[in-house]
Amino acid sequence: MASGRGLDSRIVIVGSGVSGVAAAQRLVGRGFRNVRILEATARSGGRIRTSTFGTCVCVCVCVCVCVCVC
Ligand SMILES: Cc1cc2nc3c(=O)[nH]c(=O)nc-3n(C[C@H](O)[C@H](O)[C@H](O)COP(=O)(O)OP(=O)(O)OC[C@H]3O[C@@H](n4cnc5c(N)ncnc54)[C@H](O)[C@@H]3O)c2cc1C
Repeated sequence: MASGRGLDSRIVIVGSGVSGVAAAQRLVGRGFRNVRILEATARSGGRIRTSTFGTCVCVCVCVCVCVCVC
């Protein structure tokens, strides 16, 4: 890393959508110990949401596209 701190570098990821979570997972998986995600809202996941409709579990993006397993 540019700071020369290697795996102790302080890394901030802005946004806890799937991109932010995936980036954090990869960094931690490669040994980086100081990874923080900043999220503007009260939940992770960004535009992806998981909901249940009756006996079905659905993953939705926005309100228009859902994939359900029933
Ligand atoms: C079944 C399915 C199929 C899909 N197929 C496709 C596809 O083919 N192609 C495609 O492109 N997408 C597809 N999507 C859409 C997919 O949901 C989005 O691409 C994905 O959610 C984007 O993730 P992201 O992390 O980049 O952004 P987001 O999900 O938008 O997350 C960004 C996060 O950052 C936070 N944030 C923003 N600004 C700040 C700030 N200043 N400070 C702190 N936090 C901040 C937001 O609150 C949010 O939580 C699909 C989704 C589903 C469910």
